Amino acid sequence: MSSREEAPDVDRLARAMLMLHGAHDDDDHDHTDTSAGTSSKAPAFSAERAAALREATQRDRERYLTSGLVSVDCRFCHVAVDVKKLGPGHTAVQWNGEATARCAYFAEVRQSGGEPARSRSCPKLADSIKHAVAEGCLEEASTAPSPGDG
Ligand SMILES: [Zn+2]
Repeated sequence: MSSREEAPDVDRLARAMLMLHGAHDDDDHDHTDTSAGTSSKAPAFSAERAAALREATQRDRERYLTSGLVSVDCRFCHVAVDVKKLGPGHTAVQWNGEATARCAYFAEVRQSGGEPARSRSCPKLADSIKHAVAEGCLEEASTAPSPGDG
């Protein structure tokens, strides 16, 4: 008795098979051609890409470390330090040995028995940096949007 219930199922299956066959016959887009597989190209590409990426990353890091670094002369003691503007009101100053030794402010601190290392920066240099920023010599390292004057 249940054979009658199977009848439409078989019919649907036959139609589906016909559709599949017809689709295959009409256009062979469905027919996957595995012979055209270029599996040998994939690993070579990824290796090349990885090397390029590694190189780019290194270059990026170097650029990040050196980009925005501007030599600013202390107008008071005439030492040159590398300054990088990190953002509004934030500047990174890279003191080198010569600058630390020659800076008049640090010399003063040293003479008065203080520790120059404890003072973050020469106040005179900070003034010079401000001037450099005002003159547009220093560019912000961050890609922060310029503040609108609205
Ligand atoms: Zn100084």
